[in-house]
Amino acid sequence: MDVEKLFHMTGGAGPSSYAKNSSLQKKAADMVKNITLETLQQLCLEITVKTFCIADLGCSSGSNTLAMIKDIVETVEGTCRKILLSDPQFHVHLNDLSTNDFNSVFKALPDFYRELRKERSGGRPHIYVGGYPGSFYGRLFPNNSLHFIYSSYSLHWLSKVPPALYNEHGDSVNKGNIYISEFSSPRVIKAYFTQFQEDFFTFLRSRSEELVVGGRMVLILLGRKGPDHVDRGNSFFWELLSRSLAMLASQGVIEKEKLDSYEVNFYAPSKEELEEEVRSEGSFKLDQLEMFQIKKEDYGERCGSAVAVTVRAIQESMIRHHFGVGEESIDCLFENYARMVDEEMVKEEIKPLTFILVLRKL
Ligand code: SAH
Repeated sequence: MDVEKLFHMTGGAGPSSYAKNSSLQKKAADMVKNITLETLQQLCLEITVKTFCIADLGCSSGSNTLAMIKDIVETVEGTCRKILLSDPQFHVHLNDLSTNDFNSVFKALPDFYRELRKERSGGRPHIYVGGYPGSFYGRLFPNNSLHFIYSSYSLHWLSKVPPALYNEHGDSVNKGNIYISEFSSPRVIKAYFTQFQEDFFTFLRSRSEELVVGGRMVLILLGRKGPDHVDRGNSFFWELLSRSLAMLASQGVIEKEKLDSYEVNFYAPSKEELEEEVRSEGSFKLDQLEMFQIKKEDYGERCGSAVAVTVRAIQESMIRHHFGVGEESIDCLFENYARMVDEEMVKEEIKPLTFILVLRKL
Protein backbone atom coordinates (compact mmCIF):
# COMPACT_ATOMS: atom_id res chain seq x y z
CA MET A 1 0.00 0.00 0.00
CA ASP A 2 1.45 3.34 -1.02
CA VAL A 3 1.23 5.41 2.15
CA GLU A 4 2.31 8.62 0.45
CA LYS A 5 -0.50 8.38 -2.07
CA LEU A 6 -3.27 6.90 0.04
CA PHE A 7 -2.83 7.79 3.68
CA HIS A 8 -4.68 10.88 4.75
CA MET A 9 -6.83 12.11 7.57
CA THR A 10 -10.46 12.53 6.50
CA GLY A 11 -10.59 16.02 5.01
CA GLY A 12 -13.27 18.73 5.00
CA ALA A 13 -15.43 19.58 7.98
CA GLY A 14 -18.04 16.79 7.84
CA PRO A 15 -19.07 14.63 10.81
CA SER A 16 -16.27 12.08 10.27
CA SER A 17 -13.56 14.58 9.28
CA TYR A 18 -10.27 14.95 11.14
CA ALA A 19 -11.18 18.61 11.69
CA LYS A 20 -14.23 17.56 13.73
CA ASN A 21 -12.56 14.60 15.45
CA SER A 22 -9.17 15.69 16.67
CA SER A 23 -9.95 17.20 20.05
CA LEU A 24 -8.03 14.43 21.86
CA GLN A 25 -4.84 15.34 20.01
CA LYS A 26 -5.48 18.99 20.88
CA LYS A 27 -6.04 18.20 24.55
CA ALA A 28 -2.84 16.19 24.71
CA ALA A 29 -0.73 18.79 22.89
CA ASP A 30 -2.13 21.44 25.25
CA MET A 31 -1.06 19.38 28.27
CA VAL A 32 2.56 19.93 27.27
CA LYS A 33 2.17 23.36 25.68
CA ASN A 34 4.25 24.89 28.45
CA ILE A 35 7.24 22.79 27.33
CA THR A 36 6.76 23.86 23.70
CA LEU A 37 6.47 27.53 24.57
CA GLU A 38 9.33 27.54 27.08
CA THR A 39 11.55 25.99 24.42
CA LEU A 40 10.62 28.85 22.09
CA GLN A 41 11.29 31.48 24.73
CA GLN A 42 14.70 30.01 25.36
CA LEU A 43 15.42 29.98 21.63
CA CYS A 44 14.39 33.64 21.28
CA LEU A 45 16.86 34.59 23.97
CA GLU A 46 19.64 32.83 22.09
CA ILE A 47 19.10 33.98 18.51
CA THR A 48 18.19 37.31 16.97
CA VAL A 49 16.54 37.08 13.59
CA LYS A 50 14.54 39.38 11.33
CA THR A 51 12.40 36.52 10.03
CA PHE A 52 11.52 33.68 12.36
CA CYS A 53 11.07 30.46 10.35
CA ILE A 54 8.80 27.77 11.72
CA ALA A 55 7.62 24.42 10.35
CA ASP A 56 4.74 22.24 11.52
CA LEU A 57 5.27 18.71 10.22
CA GLY A 58 2.14 16.62 9.82
CA CYS A 59 -0.07 19.68 10.27
CA SER A 60 -3.25 17.97 8.99
CA SER A 61 -6.37 20.15 8.62
CA GLY A 62 -8.74 21.63 11.15
CA SER A 63 -8.44 23.94 14.10
CA ASN A 64 -5.38 22.19 15.59
CA THR A 65 -3.27 23.26 12.62
CA LEU A 66 -3.44 27.01 13.17
CA ALA A 67 -4.04 27.03 16.94
CA MET A 68 -0.46 26.11 17.73
CA ILE A 69 0.90 28.54 15.13
CA LYS A 70 -0.96 31.33 16.91
CA ASP A 71 0.58 30.36 20.26
CA ILE A 72 4.03 30.16 18.70
CA VAL A 73 3.74 33.60 17.08
CA GLU A 74 2.49 35.19 20.29
CA THR A 75 5.23 33.62 22.39
CA VAL A 76 7.98 34.74 20.04
CA GLU A 77 6.58 38.28 19.89
CA GLY A 78 6.15 38.43 23.66
CA THR A 79 9.71 37.28 24.30
CA CYS A 80 11.19 39.68 21.75
CA ARG A 81 9.34 42.60 23.35
CA LYS A 82 10.56 41.64 26.79
CA ILE A 83 14.15 41.92 25.65
CA LEU A 84 13.34 45.09 23.71
CA LEU A 85 13.74 43.63 20.25
CA SER A 86 11.37 44.63 17.49
CA ASP A 87 8.82 42.03 16.35
CA PRO A 88 10.23 39.65 13.78
CA GLN A 89 8.41 38.59 10.63
CA PHE A 90 7.21 34.99 10.50
CA HIS A 91 7.56 32.44 7.77
CA VAL A 92 5.34 29.47 8.58
CA HIS A 93 5.81 26.22 6.66
CA LEU A 94 2.86 23.87 6.98
CA ASN A 95 3.78 20.36 5.93
CA ASP A 96 1.81 17.19 5.45
CA LEU A 97 1.50 14.47 2.84
CA SER A 98 0.26 15.76 -0.51
CA THR A 99 -3.05 13.93 0.08
CA ASN A 100 -3.81 16.24 3.04
CA ASP A 101 -6.71 18.67 2.76
CA PHE A 102 -4.53 21.78 2.41
CA ASN A 103 -7.45 23.63 0.80
CA SER A 104 -9.32 23.66 4.11
CA VAL A 105 -6.24 24.99 5.86
CA PHE A 106 -5.82 27.77 3.31
CA LYS A 107 -9.49 28.68 3.47
CA ALA A 108 -9.14 29.17 7.23
CA LEU A 109 -6.30 31.67 6.78
CA PRO A 110 -8.35 34.89 6.31
CA ASP A 111 -10.14 34.26 9.63
CA PHE A 112 -6.83 33.42 11.26
CA TYR A 113 -5.29 36.71 10.08
CA ARG A 114 -8.44 38.60 11.11
CA GLU A 115 -8.22 37.18 14.62
CA LEU A 116 -4.56 38.12 14.94
CA ARG A 117 -5.39 41.64 13.72
CA LYS A 118 -8.28 42.02 16.14
CA GLU A 119 -6.08 41.15 19.10
CA ARG A 120 -3.58 43.75 17.99
CA SER A 121 -6.24 46.41 17.40
CA GLY A 122 -5.78 46.44 13.65
CA GLY A 123 -2.06 45.81 13.36
CA ARG A 124 -1.25 42.41 12.02
CA PRO A 125 2.01 40.53 12.53
CA HIS A 126 3.98 39.99 9.36
CA ILE A 127 3.20 36.36 8.96
CA TYR A 128 3.56 34.43 5.72
CA VAL A 129 2.05 30.97 5.67
CA GLY A 130 2.75 28.38 2.99
CA GLY A 131 1.91 24.73 2.39
CA TYR A 132 4.77 22.29 1.79
CA PRO A 133 3.37 18.93 0.71
CA GLY A 134 5.63 15.89 0.95
CA SER A 135 6.84 13.21 3.30
CA PHE A 136 8.87 14.32 6.28
CA TYR A 137 10.88 11.14 5.82
CA GLY A 138 13.07 13.07 3.40
CA ARG A 139 14.10 16.66 2.68
CA LEU A 140 11.38 19.31 2.59
CA PHE A 141 13.17 22.65 2.98
CA PRO A 142 16.47 24.30 1.95
CA ASN A 143 19.60 24.01 4.12
CA ASN A 144 19.66 26.06 7.33
CA SER A 145 16.30 27.63 6.62
CA LEU A 146 14.38 26.90 9.83
CA HIS A 147 14.62 27.99 13.46
CA PHE A 148 11.88 25.94 15.03
CA ILE A 149 10.19 22.69 14.05
CA TYR A 150 7.04 21.39 15.66
CA SER A 151 5.40 18.05 15.03
CA SER A 152 2.46 16.73 16.99
CA TYR A 153 0.96 13.24 16.76
CA SER A 154 2.57 12.51 13.39
CA LEU A 155 5.86 10.71 13.93
CA HIS A 156 4.37 7.43 15.11
CA TRP A 157 3.29 6.98 11.47
CA LEU A 158 5.90 5.04 9.56
CA SER A 159 6.79 5.91 5.97
CA LYS A 160 5.35 2.57 4.92
CA VAL A 161 4.02 -0.73 6.16
CA PRO A 162 7.28 -2.60 6.90
CA PRO A 163 8.05 -4.67 3.76
CA ALA A 164 9.66 -7.38 5.94
CA LEU A 165 6.17 -8.26 7.18
CA TYR A 166 5.50 -10.04 3.89
CA ASN A 167 7.02 -13.32 2.72
CA GLU A 168 8.17 -14.07 -0.83
CA HIS A 169 4.58 -14.83 -1.88
CA GLY A 170 3.42 -11.46 -0.61
CA ASP A 171 1.59 -12.99 2.38
CA SER A 172 1.78 -11.26 5.73
CA VAL A 173 3.68 -13.11 8.45
CA ASN A 174 1.42 -11.33 10.96
CA LYS A 175 -1.89 -12.87 9.88
CA GLY A 176 -4.80 -12.24 12.19
CA ASN A 177 -3.23 -9.04 13.56
CA ILE A 178 -2.89 -5.58 12.12
CA TYR A 179 -0.05 -4.43 14.41
CA ILE A 180 2.24 -6.07 16.96
CA SER A 181 0.05 -8.18 19.25
CA GLU A 182 0.63 -10.90 21.81
CA PHE A 183 0.39 -13.41 18.95
CA SER A 184 3.03 -11.72 16.81
CA SER A 185 6.35 -13.48 16.21
CA PRO A 186 9.77 -11.88 16.88
CA ARG A 187 10.10 -11.47 13.11
CA VAL A 188 7.08 -9.15 13.15
CA ILE A 189 8.50 -7.06 15.98
CA LYS A 190 11.83 -6.84 14.17
CA ALA A 191 10.13 -5.75 10.95
CA TYR A 192 8.33 -2.88 12.68
CA PHE A 193 11.34 -1.87 14.76
CA THR A 194 13.70 -1.85 11.77
CA GLN A 195 11.29 0.35 9.80
CA PHE A 196 11.06 2.75 12.76
CA GLN A 197 14.86 2.95 13.03
CA GLU A 198 15.25 3.64 9.34
CA ASP A 199 12.47 6.23 9.30
CA PHE A 200 13.38 8.10 12.46
CA PHE A 201 17.03 8.25 11.42
CA THR A 202 16.05 9.68 8.01
CA PHE A 203 13.75 12.16 9.72
CA LEU A 204 16.50 13.40 12.05
CA ARG A 205 19.10 13.57 9.29
CA SER A 206 16.78 15.54 6.99
CA ARG A 207 15.81 18.02 9.71
CA SER A 208 19.42 18.44 10.82
CA GLU A 209 20.21 19.93 7.42
CA GLU A 210 17.20 22.23 7.46
CA LEU A 211 17.58 23.63 10.98
CA VAL A 212 20.11 26.33 11.85
CA VAL A 213 22.65 25.48 14.55
CA GLY A 214 20.93 25.99 17.91
CA GLY A 215 17.49 25.58 16.30
CA ARG A 216 14.96 23.50 18.21
CA MET A 217 12.51 20.70 17.46
CA VAL A 218 9.56 19.80 19.63
CA LEU A 219 8.22 16.36 18.74
CA ILE A 220 5.08 14.87 20.25
CA LEU A 221 4.37 11.24 19.41
CA LEU A 222 2.77 8.10 20.75
CA GLY A 223 5.06 5.56 22.37
CA ARG A 224 5.22 2.73 24.86
CA LYS A 225 6.31 2.39 28.44
CA GLY A 226 9.03 -0.24 28.36
CA PRO A 227 10.56 -3.00 26.28
CA ASP A 228 7.23 -4.86 26.08
CA HIS A 229 5.40 -4.16 22.83
CA VAL A 230 2.04 -5.38 24.01
CA ASP A 231 0.31 -3.34 26.68
CA ARG A 232 -2.94 -1.56 27.43
CA GLY A 233 -1.43 1.55 25.91
CA ASN A 234 -1.20 1.97 22.20
CA SER A 235 -1.01 -1.60 20.92
CA PHE A 236 -4.33 -2.49 22.53
CA PHE A 237 -6.26 0.02 20.42
CA TRP A 238 -5.01 -1.80 17.31
CA GLU A 239 -5.89 -5.13 18.86
CA LEU A 240 -9.48 -3.95 19.24
CA LEU A 241 -9.61 -2.61 15.68
CA SER A 242 -8.28 -5.96 14.52
CA ARG A 243 -11.08 -7.73 16.42
CA SER A 244 -13.69 -5.39 14.91
CA LEU A 245 -12.37 -6.10 11.43
CA ALA A 246 -12.49 -9.84 12.18
CA MET A 247 -16.18 -9.45 13.04
CA LEU A 248 -16.81 -7.90 9.61
CA ALA A 249 -14.87 -10.74 8.00
CA SER A 250 -16.93 -13.36 9.82
CA GLN A 251 -20.10 -11.65 8.54
CA GLY A 252 -18.69 -11.79 5.01
CA VAL A 253 -18.59 -7.99 4.69
CA ILE A 254 -14.85 -8.00 4.06
CA GLU A 255 -12.67 -10.76 2.63
CA LYS A 256 -10.66 -12.81 5.10
CA GLU A 257 -7.60 -12.76 2.77
CA LYS A 258 -7.70 -8.99 2.73
CA LEU A 259 -7.78 -8.91 6.51
CA ASP A 260 -4.79 -11.26 6.63
CA SER A 261 -2.72 -8.86 4.59
CA TYR A 262 -3.78 -5.65 6.37
CA GLU A 263 -1.10 -4.06 8.55
CA VAL A 264 -0.76 -0.52 9.85
CA ASN A 265 2.13 1.86 9.15
CA PHE A 266 2.45 2.66 12.83
CA TYR A 267 5.08 2.14 15.52
CA ALA A 268 5.09 3.09 19.20
CA PRO A 269 8.76 3.41 20.21
CA SER A 270 10.07 3.24 23.77
CA LYS A 271 12.04 6.02 25.43
CA GLU A 272 15.26 4.02 25.01
CA GLU A 273 14.64 3.44 21.31
CA LEU A 274 14.10 7.17 20.72
CA GLU A 275 17.20 8.09 22.72
CA GLU A 276 19.30 5.55 20.86
CA GLU A 277 18.24 6.90 17.44
CA VAL A 278 19.01 10.49 18.48
CA ARG A 279 22.40 9.38 19.76
CA SER A 280 23.30 7.32 16.71
CA GLU A 281 22.22 10.03 14.23
CA GLY A 282 24.37 12.50 16.13
CA SER A 283 23.16 15.96 14.96
CA PHE A 284 20.95 16.76 17.94
CA LYS A 285 21.18 17.05 21.68
CA LEU A 286 18.13 15.70 23.47
CA ASP A 287 17.33 18.54 25.88
CA GLN A 288 14.19 16.97 27.28
CA LEU A 289 12.09 13.81 26.98
CA GLU A 290 8.90 13.53 29.00
CA MET A 291 6.14 10.97 29.03
CA PHE A 292 2.48 11.75 29.65
CA GLN A 293 -0.95 10.17 29.38
CA ILE A 294 -4.41 11.53 28.80
CA LYS A 295 -6.92 10.26 31.30
CA LYS A 296 -10.31 8.66 30.89
CA GLU A 297 -12.02 11.93 31.90
CA ASP A 298 -10.39 13.65 28.93
CA TYR A 299 -12.43 11.50 26.56
CA GLY A 300 -15.67 12.90 27.92
CA GLU A 301 -18.69 10.81 28.84
CA ARG A 302 -18.83 8.57 25.80
CA CYS A 303 -15.32 7.24 25.88
CA GLY A 304 -15.68 4.44 23.29
CA SER A 305 -17.28 6.78 20.76
CA ALA A 306 -14.64 9.44 21.36
CA VAL A 307 -11.87 6.95 20.64
CA ALA A 308 -13.76 5.47 17.67
CA VAL A 309 -14.33 8.80 15.89
CA THR A 310 -10.68 9.74 16.42
CA VAL A 311 -9.38 6.44 15.02
CA ARG A 312 -11.89 6.56 12.18
CA ALA A 313 -10.75 10.01 11.00
CA ILE A 314 -7.22 8.62 10.90
CA GLN A 315 -7.76 5.14 9.45
CA GLU A 316 -10.77 5.47 7.15
CA SER A 317 -8.76 6.29 4.00
CA MET A 318 -6.58 3.20 4.37
CA ILE A 319 -9.40 0.81 5.34
CA ARG A 320 -11.65 1.95 2.50
CA HIS A 321 -8.89 1.52 -0.02
CA HIS A 322 -7.65 -1.84 1.25
CA PHE A 323 -11.00 -3.53 1.78
CA GLY A 324 -12.95 -1.66 -0.89
CA VAL A 325 -15.83 -1.05 1.51
CA GLY A 326 -18.31 1.82 1.69
CA GLU A 327 -19.75 4.10 4.33
CA GLU A 328 -22.16 1.56 5.79
CA SER A 329 -19.49 -1.03 6.56
CA ILE A 330 -17.22 1.62 8.02
CA ASP A 331 -20.08 2.81 10.26
CA CYS A 332 -20.61 -0.76 11.42
CA LEU A 333 -16.89 -1.34 11.98
CA PHE A 334 -16.54 1.69 14.21
CA GLU A 335 -19.77 1.06 16.10
CA ASN A 336 -18.39 -2.34 17.09
CA TYR A 337 -15.07 -0.76 17.88
CA ALA A 338 -16.62 1.90 20.14
CA ARG A 339 -18.51 -0.79 22.01
CA MET A 340 -15.38 -2.88 22.52
CA VAL A 341 -13.43 0.12 23.81
CA ASP A 342 -16.19 0.82 26.33
CA GLU A 343 -16.30 -2.82 27.44
CA GLU A 344 -12.55 -2.89 27.94
CA MET A 345 -12.46 0.45 29.74
CA VAL A 346 -14.85 -0.93 32.34
CA LYS A 347 -12.42 -3.78 33.03
CA GLU A 348 -9.29 -1.66 33.09
CA GLU A 349 -8.40 1.71 31.66
CA ILE A 350 -6.60 1.78 28.30
CA LYS A 351 -4.35 4.80 28.28
CA PRO A 352 -2.31 5.82 25.28
CA LEU A 353 1.13 7.02 26.22
CA THR A 354 2.73 10.04 24.59
CA PHE A 355 6.29 11.36 24.50
CA ILE A 356 7.42 14.91 24.05
CA LEU A 357 11.00 15.43 22.92
CA VAL A 358 12.88 18.69 22.80
CA LEU A 359 15.90 18.53 20.49
CA ARG A 360 18.59 21.12 19.86
CA LYS A 361 20.56 21.16 16.61
CA LEU A 362 24.27 20.88 17.39
N1 SAH B 1 -0.53 17.76 14.02
C1 SAH B 1 -1.96 17.54 13.90
C2 SAH B 1 -2.28 16.32 13.06
C3 SAH B 1 -1.90 14.98 13.59
S1 SAH B 1 -2.52 13.68 12.57
C4 SAH B 1 -2.58 17.45 15.27
O1 SAH B 1 -1.85 17.43 16.26
O2 SAH B 1 -3.81 17.38 15.37
C5 SAH B 1 -1.05 13.09 11.81
C6 SAH B 1 -0.71 13.80 10.53
O3 SAH B 1 0.58 13.37 10.11
C7 SAH B 1 -1.65 13.45 9.38
O4 SAH B 1 -2.20 14.60 8.82
C8 SAH B 1 -0.78 12.69 8.41
O5 SAH B 1 -1.14 12.88 7.06
C9 SAH B 1 0.58 13.27 8.72
N2 SAH B 1 1.67 12.42 8.29
C10 SAH B 1 1.83 11.10 8.50
N3 SAH B 1 2.96 10.66 7.92
C11 SAH B 1 3.54 11.74 7.32
C12 SAH B 1 4.72 11.92 6.55
N4 SAH B 1 5.52 10.92 6.29
N5 SAH B 1 5.01 13.16 6.10
C13 SAH B 1 4.20 14.21 6.37
N6 SAH B 1 3.04 14.09 7.10
C14 SAH B 1 2.72 12.86 7.56
